[in-house]
Amino acid sequence: MNASLNADLHCHSVVSDGTLSPEQLAQRAHANGVQLWALTDHDEVGGQAAAAAAAAALGLDYLTGVEISVTFLGQTVHIVGLGFDADNLVLRQGLEQTRGGRAARARDMAAALAAVGVCGAYEGALKYAGNHDLISRTHFARFMVETGVCKDTYEVFRKYLTEGKPGFVEHRWATLKDAVGWIRGAGGLAVIAHPARYKFSANEEYALFTEFKGHGGEAVEVVTGSHSVAESQTFAATALEFGLAASRGSDFHSPEESRTDLGALPDLAPHLTPVWALLQQRIVRAQ
Ligand code: AMP
Ligand code: MN
Ligand code: MN
Ligand code: MN
Repeated sequence: MNASLNADLHCHSVVSDGTLSPEQLAQRAHANGVQLWALTDHDEVGGQAAAAAAAAALGLDYLTGVEISVTFLGQTVHIVGLGFDADNLVLRQGLEQTRGGRAARARDMAAALAAVGVCGAYEGALKYAGNHDLISRTHFARFMVETGVCKDTYEVFRKYLTEGKPGFVEHRWATLKDAVGWIRGAGGLAVIAHPARYKFSANEEYALFTEFKGHGGEAVEVVTGSHSVAESQTFAATALEFGLAASRGSDFHSPEESRTDLGALPDLAPHLTPVWALLQQRIVRAQ
């Protein structure tokens, strides 16, 4: 199977915390040479119909996508789902439940930020959230750049919004078992997103991969916007160790913020099984 296909199977639209519409993303992916695309908004499939229609109009092959927030051993882990039926009721209900706690969490974040002198952050962040149900840390970060608290969103995360920092609020997301189960139940394939971003010990990471596999998870993102070449090599080895297929996706959010553009990624190493080899029946092919 073609390991050098320009597949980009991870990005975000205004339906979650991206700044472009599904249609704008489809155009950008196509212009950048992407041959197989998936929109993977956080905890939400509301952009899938528009993304699939825009891809079809451009002659771009498409897979449905989502990125589900999971809590595993006290950390947030992201599980990408690909090639599922976006109308599946159990999946949709699961995502709705996962989205549910975001409003209260955002209010708690705003209170925590106010305590260190950053005022009006809830209203400020909400202004950036195209979908209020999906208010996320990214929207707070944009507000704090706008108001000059930090120079860019990376600095906001580093100084305010990550564990141990003043604006960070603990949150319990879906379980790993549920997220993988919802994706599989809807006919899709589950992928561990950006594995190098987690701060697990070796034993904890082993538990993540073992349990993921045990629940029927089938792939890991080996090439992604936030991975160095060395990290991609590390997780290529992990994919082989656990018998997982390999995925590739930029995690593009915004032309102004993202360091990796749609489709602008290294190829998957040819000795890996690309995730699209397992998804041939699920690809919506453009004529
Ligand atoms: P949330 O789902 O509200 O916890 O927000 C998570 C989102 O914040 C991720 O999907 C990224 O878009 C963004 N994000 C998380 N950590 C960082 C970081 N360290 N630097 C920049 N963006 C980040
Ligand atoms: Mn995001
Ligand atoms: Mn993610
Ligand atoms: Mn993402």
